[in-house]
Amino acid sequence: MHKDYTDETPTSTPPACAACGESSLTQIKIKQQFPYGTEGQQVLLSVEVPAWHCSSCDFEFTDGEAEELRHEAICRHLGLLSPREIREIRSSYRMTQSDFAEETGFGEASIKRWELGLNLQNKSADKYLRLLREKRTPENTAPIAQKRSLLNQKRSNKFRTNLPASAYFAASIFELRLGHA
Ligand SMILES: [Zn+2]
Repeated sequence: MHKDYTDETPTSTPPACAACGESSLTQIKIKQQFPYGTEGQQVLLSVEVPAWHCSSCDFEFTDGEAEELRHEAICRHLGLLSPREIREIRSSYRMTQSDFAEETGFGEASIKRWELGLNLQNKSADKYLRLLREKRTPENTAPIAQKRSLLNQKRSNKFRTNLPASAYFAASIFELRLGHA
């Protein structure tokens, strides 16, 4: 099977306003904040995303690209590679998803879900992918030990916060479909 291994850029051109149906849309950048995590351990993540503004009715809405950027913010927060980075790693080896599955031992379905942002890879898979990215050899593994101590520092400063009601309101403006909690 000969599949393309290059990146697919998600298209983001809604034909019409989601509220009034007019095609008077311009793209703008907005800052979004959204809570992430289970109750009692939520953090507020910030991300700048492209959004559409309708000059007919003043409605603003985001699309799939914003969704991807919010997902990336979650990955950064969790210290995991983003779907985009995983695609890049695989592409750098010039492999299809099925070739990559065969070479790494990951399930092809898992690779697909990671690249689509449907599932988050676990820590060990994430580390394996990072090693593949850095093409590490035994001669240059020293930086890994440094990274580990950095990681442990990060872990000990667990970020927990009580969110003000306004934050929940701001987040509820946007339709979030994040099912990774
Ligand atoms: Zn409109």
